Amino acid sequence: MRPCELTFLKAKRLMDEGALSARELATSVLDRIEAVEEGLGAYIYVRPREHVLAEAAEVDEVRRRGESVGVLAGMPVAVKDNIVTRGVPTTAGSRILEGYVPPYDATAVARLKAAGAVIVGKTNLDEFGMGSSNENSAFHVTRNPWDQNRVPGGSSGGSAAALAACEALLAIGTDTGGSVRQPAGFCGIVGAKPTYGRVSRYGLVAFASSLDQIGVMARDVAGTAALLTVVAGRDPRDATSASEPVPDYLADITEGDLSGVSVGFVEEFFTEGLEPAVRDRVRAAVDLLSDLGASVEAVSMPHVRYGVPAYYLVADAEASSNLARYDGVRFGFRASGAADVRSLYERTRSEGFGPEVKRRIMLGTHALSAGYYDQYYLKAQRVRNLIARDFERAFREVDAVVGPTSPTTAFKLGERIDDPLAMYLSDVFTVPASLAGIPAISVPCGTDDRGLPVGLQIMAGRFQEAVMFKIARAFEEASGGPPDPPIL
Ligand code: GLN
Repeated sequence: MRPCELTFLKAKRLMDEGALSARELATSVLDRIEAVEEGLGAYIYVRPREHVLAEAAEVDEVRRRGESVGVLAGMPVAVKDNIVTRGVPTTAGSRILEGYVPPYDATAVARLKAAGAVIVGKTNLDEFGMGSSNENSAFHVTRNPWDQNRVPGGSSGGSAAALAACEALLAIGTDTGGSVRQPAGFCGIVGAKPTYGRVSRYGLVAFASSLDQIGVMARDVAGTAALLTVVAGRDPRDATSASEPVPDYLADITEGDLSGVSVGFVEEFFTEGLEPAVRDRVRAAVDLLSDLGASVEAVSMPHVRYGVPAYYLVADAEASSNLARYDGVRFGFRASGAADVRSLYERTRSEGFGPEVKRRIMLGTHALSAGYYDQYYLKAQRVRNLIARDFERAFREVDAVVGPTSPTTAFKLGERIDDPLAMYLSDVFTVPASLAGIPAISVPCGTDDRGLPVGLQIMAGRFQEAVMFKIARAFEEASGGPPDPPIL
């Protein structure tokens, strides 16, 4: 097995024992990128080899001196390209930010570096995180490593594909309505969105501020737990970041037994539109949780069916406001030939934004406009509260609720791009947790008859990430460990 194919936990053990150096691991990852990246397009930007190797060698040097190293020492990490990185181009998948080189690191990135991680590059995404397939990237599509005619999911599809293709060991993404969990499910890896406020959003390019969260991705549950331990916590630069203490999520998940844990099975998630193979795999997963000692009961969440319309109203309204800053004056792309300020704005925004982003700015502006505010935005906020209350009620009975991550496995490239509604419906099971602000994880749960990965979603109460990881890890272990990556 090549070092790049190791899971976080195995690589960490080998490095701690001195059997693998950070330089060897980084070399293996960079070689892998050279070999497979052209057909996949997981990255928008890969850092120069000598920079990556020099940082890895530095970690080895610290170890050689017998000094203590961070939890992520020498771990090659991919960063979604809507998270700013000092001195490294950040585009958010948009032409409007082309050429922008941030002068600072996002707090999450600064914390990764402080923990010894080695940033490999910036991964592809749907423009500003708006999409479920990565086809809305202004630069290129990303292909699913399990079947290159299919999408990797989105919007953190680049991070998910990079992990499935062993082009990184860990990755961070962002999740506004499912963008970490859905691509994790489609690519057969693990992806977790923490509680809203758990991770600082400082340096995250804003899409919908009341929903955006940085999420963690890896081929094993342990990798996501380690990442979250590093990036979570209060940050004075983000007033919405929570002061809740950050447990050592990695240390807390070592036990496989689930006795004493109660799990709710969301009835409303098993409706029409759910592919039979997904339904069967998820049902089998629930049985496995029960075999592991968890008590399982059905829970009802009557309002989750209104999640998609409520989400797309809230998200688009906030996006229309957040994206007002791209005017060609302050940063990134500026259209040429404008005669006055007004036409500079118009031309820059017409040329700089892609069609999906424009659609959302228009829908969001409409939903917020005088006379429509109550009818759309306010109503969506009410539905959001009802969904949050459905979860609160469920968490009075059970520790976690489970269901499928997505109604289908990865769809074909081009299949939904001309049908926004069909695209939006792929988020039907991920937006409820986003609207409620609760943590949720997707873990691999077998494959359908075409060999495409299915994701099991586990959701927990606010700041209850530890129980979510515990269930996910027990499930992963009982189902034979993290799946082997696809052969490319
Ligand atoms: N697919 C959803 C959307 O298009 C979610 C995106 C996200 O979580 N960033 O808005």
